[in-house]
Amino acid sequence: MRINYLYTFMAKIGIIGAGIAGLTAAWHLSEKNPDDEITIFESDRKGGVVHTETYENALLESGPGFAIAENPALHELCQNLGISEMLIPAKDKKIFYRNQSYQQKVPSDFLSFENNFLSFLGSGFNSFFALKKKVSLWGDTSLFDMLKTTFGQTYAETLGSVYSRFAFRNEVENIDFSSNFPQLKSSMKSQETLKNVVSDMKKTRPEYWKSLYSPEAIAGFKPDFYSFKGGLSLLIEKLGEALKAKDNVHFEFEKIQGIKAEANMHLNSKKKKFGSFDRILFAMPATDAATIWKSTDKPLSQKLADLKKHSVNVIYSAWKKKDIQTSGFAYYMPRKENLSVYGMEFIGNAFPEQSPDDMFIMRMILPGELSMLSDEDIVSLTETDLKKTFSLTDKPTWSKVYRQQNAYANRDKSYKKWKDDVNDLLKNHQNITMIGSDFHGPGLTNLLEQTKQLIADEF
Ligand SMILES: Cc1cc2nc3c(=O)[nH]c(=O)nc-3n(C[C@H](O)[C@H](O)[C@H](O)COP(=O)(O)OP(=O)(O)OC[C@H]3O[C@@H](n4cnc5c(N)ncnc54)[C@H](O)[C@@H]3O)c2cc1C
Repeated sequence: MRINYLYTFMAKIGIIGAGIAGLTAAWHLSEKNPDDEITIFESDRKGGVVHTETYENALLESGPGFAIAENPALHELCQNLGISEMLIPAKDKKIFYRNQSYQQKVPSDFLSFENNFLSFLGSGFNSFFALKKKVSLWGDTSLFDMLKTTFGQTYAETLGSVYSRFAFRNEVENIDFSSNFPQLKSSMKSQETLKNVVSDMKKTRPEYWKSLYSPEAIAGFKPDFYSFKGGLSLLIEKLGEALKAKDNVHFEFEKIQGIKAEANMHLNSKKKKFGSFDRILFAMPATDAATIWKSTDKPLSQKLADLKKHSVNVIYSAWKKKDIQTSGFAYYMPRKENLSVYGMEFIGNAFPEQSPDDMFIMRMILPGELSMLSDEDIVSLTETDLKKTFSLTDKPTWSKVYRQQNAYANRDKSYKKWKDDVNDLLKNHQNITMIGSDFHGPGLTNLLEQTKQLIADEF
């Protein structure tokens, strides 16, 4: 943990970036220390990659499609903002995956294999015996190797691949286990067998929530996929309004280009100089932060720029309901199925109030930078996959492509070393903190939790 900055009174805090991380940091900070003066800098629009658009009477999300609530953070924030009734859980949440061209249901836990395909019978047995395995034998390893050793090759290649593509938009071989699952890893250090690790996690997680969230938030929380009436931008809009209404928070729509990080810290845009600040939070991608440090701390700037990122494309495809109707929330593709897309999310099934009644709307993720391909080329790649998967012959009524360059950090072994190196270099700047998805993991509710924890611990 970083050293606490000791304030005498009324600290001046700068937050660079009004994505979900920057906005929630400002919210928790202003609630905790109402005397602090908080300035949020944003070069573009509030929300960052969170952005909902209305297109052909449907609500499309160009960034995250939904929030996966794995903790009470989203529920608590919505309660505080008075928008709990606008939070909508997914109607249909069954997830399927493709295995040897067949559609199978993702097991609800790792012992329930609700299919009788021979290829998976082995994994079912392996999962059962895995509970008794000594976890101390697993050293630092990739997620793939860990799954393969424990549950077998088929499990790692299919369900492991599906999970990592869904949660991290990365291939399973690229996910470093210890840096991406730190709680699991530390539980494994203290427990003998996987069975004990599982019961330890079940016990410690609710205890941790009790220390971080209100009892009402914990009581109102239900793990699920969530969107909002009005899409995810509604959360940003309401958070923005709540912050604007506070006397101690204000926004500056300026692109920050440099920092003076001595005792009296200043930030500058092209035209203006801002400061002085007692503390500055960077709530932005590492590569953007690298530009700001370029002329004042070259080693830190270089290190921030070194983070390996990769791009994804979000493609919406709208069909007449009479041409295609399938149940479930999503159908994910392990890499060995050799399709271009990571999978299809049936957004119309999950959040039907967001699309016209007669349309079946899906959202697909296609990895890669793909700047050589036109939008039509990208759509045609997805159509080939759809034909293979659903034997469709017609074309969709419409399609829409959103390109997200450098969207996700590549969370392989080099990620852990990169983060350790950044933290070492930040020791030269006790009053600087980095938050956001490049530093705290990719999911929205995970970011909400990590940001809340950071403000509780360090401010
Ligand atoms: C395509 C895609 C799909 C995703 N799907 C999901 C999903 O389904 N579910 C889920 O939970 N998560 C998903 N995620 C992850 C999630 O959206 C992100 O982790 C999260 O939104 C990142 O928020 P952030 O605040 O860290 O960063 P950002 O949203 O990137 O915000 C950073 C902000 O900083 C601003 N900024 C940058 N440089 C400067 C500067 N110099 N001066 C001032 N301002 C600056 C930017 O304009 C931006 O507004 C997805 C992400 C992407 C890209």
